[in-house]
Amino acid sequence: DHLINQIAAGEVVERPASVVKELIENSLDADCARLEIDVERGGIKRLRVRDDGRGIPRDQLALALARHATSKLVDLADLEAVQTLGFRGEALPSIAAVSRLTLTSRARSDLDAADDSAWEIAVTPDGRLDGPRPAAHPPGTSVEVRDLFFNTPARRKFLRTEQTEFEHIDQVVRRLALARPDVAFELRHNGRLVHQLPATDGRPGSRRARLDRLLGAGFAEQSLEIDVSALDLRLHGWVRRPAFARSQPDQQFFYVNGRLIRDRLITHAIRQAFSDFLHQARHPGYVLFLELPPHLVDVNVHPSKHEVRFRESRQVHDFIRHALKRRLAQGIL
Ligand code: ADP
Ligand code: MG
Repeated sequence: DHLINQIAAGEVVERPASVVKELIENSLDADCARLEIDVERGGIKRLRVRDDGRGIPRDQLALALARHATSKLVDLADLEAVQTLGFRGEALPSIAAVSRLTLTSRARSDLDAADDSAWEIAVTPDGRLDGPRPAAHPPGTSVEVRDLFFNTPARRKFLRTEQTEFEHIDQVVRRLALARPDVAFELRHNGRLVHQLPATDGRPGSRRARLDRLLGAGFAEQSLEIDVSALDLRLHGWVRRPAFARSQPDQQFFYVNGRLIRDRLITHAIRQAFSDFLHQARHPGYVLFLELPPHLVDVNVHPSKHEVRFRESRQVHDFIRHALKRRLAQGIL
């Protein structure tokens, strides 16, 4: 089983940043309000994600580390309507198979059968579980991952410098923090505070402050806010004003039902909207969110989950193109 998990880890765990992504997604799925991400030496030596989410009761700690044990899908029909970021039950066992992992949690007493203390469980290098044993932890969960790929030297060889690995982690945190302004994020590298992002409070100014912190001062001011709905589709977010629409490939973020995706259909629709309006090709920055009923989109295409498949792809394309084009034409409003 340990071996199977190590093989599966090849799909899920490419580098420290993929670990951080999976752990943050689990925290978001657990309805946390704040997240602390602590990274040492590019995440290769050690990384830890701590949340204040609903926690894991003692008797489910071992299960959380078992393969294909997810608490998120009730039956197969649910696959049509996945609302959570994770649903395969693969991440924790896969990460544990290629690192030294410790899971510490305290179930939020108002939701689960009140656990009166926190519990910790670790995975030994040969794949056995050690614990649960009592621990100290506020309500919520911490996952600590040390010595990534210590037992898979071939994989370890593919890691880049600590600085490069950290940059990948930073990118993952930015993507998720853009999508979840309602959650506070803190990121530290080697003890140094890299991001401190308070949760937004619903006022537009606080939402803009997060955008500017993540994408550079002036992003919000140089962008048009958009929020358009038609039928089952809603497109909202920010797109660079034409006057500031240069080539900004590092500022292009598109989310479908909260998940960041890369999709040629979408890129094409956005580019089309700009060239309809400006009569020249542009690749401007944007942070856009498309919301649609889960049954109209298949997120189950690839484990890395950057791809999606739309049931009505033409309709989605045209909706985005026309919504953006109209917004660009309205300008300052
Ligand atoms: P998945 O996210 O696909 O369900 P994972 O392997 O990522 O699978 O996690 C396994 C299970 O562990 C989750 O279904 C969830 O029940 C539990 N879990 C993991 N991380 C957390 C967390 N931060 N807070 C609460 N529960 C968690
Ligand atoms: Mg998960």
